[in-house]
Amino acid sequence: MDTKYAKRTYTPKTTKYVSSVTPSQSGYSWYEITAVMLFVAGFIYVASLQYFTIEDNVAFISCRSARQSISTAISEYKADYSSSAVSHVKKNINLKKLVDSKYLRYYPKCWCDGNFKLNSHDEVYCTFHTPELEDAVKQ
Ligand SMILES: [Zn+2]
Repeated sequence: MDTKYAKRTYTPKTTKYVSSVTPSQSGYSWYEITAVMLFVAGFIYVASLQYFTIEDNVAFISCRSARQSISTAISEYKADYSSSAVSHVKKNINLKKLVDSKYLRYYPKCWCDGNFKLNSHDEVYCTFHTPELEDAVKQ
């Protein structure tokens, strides 16, 4: 009886060892799942942070290039018509007029829904990205 008992305890040990190696029978424990889920959540968090940072940069760069082309279009328009009909200080720039008169090839738009305006130094600023330029008149 004693030897049989000893043998019995030994046998399951072997089976346990073998079965844990075969992948078909091994399930994931809760901490393994938690660890994987934390890893995935962390990865998604970092990836989304990077995504929004990239999107912000793209929006800023595209807004900056829009401001540059508006600024060029206005100076060309003023050179040809010597009029400030397209823009007034702190008012929305008449982009339609610039597009219609072909000084702008496309209708510039800020991705962040900013409006393009001129300050008193004839600098184009975006109400979302470069609102600090609005007060350039005071400096
Ligand atoms: Zn903008």
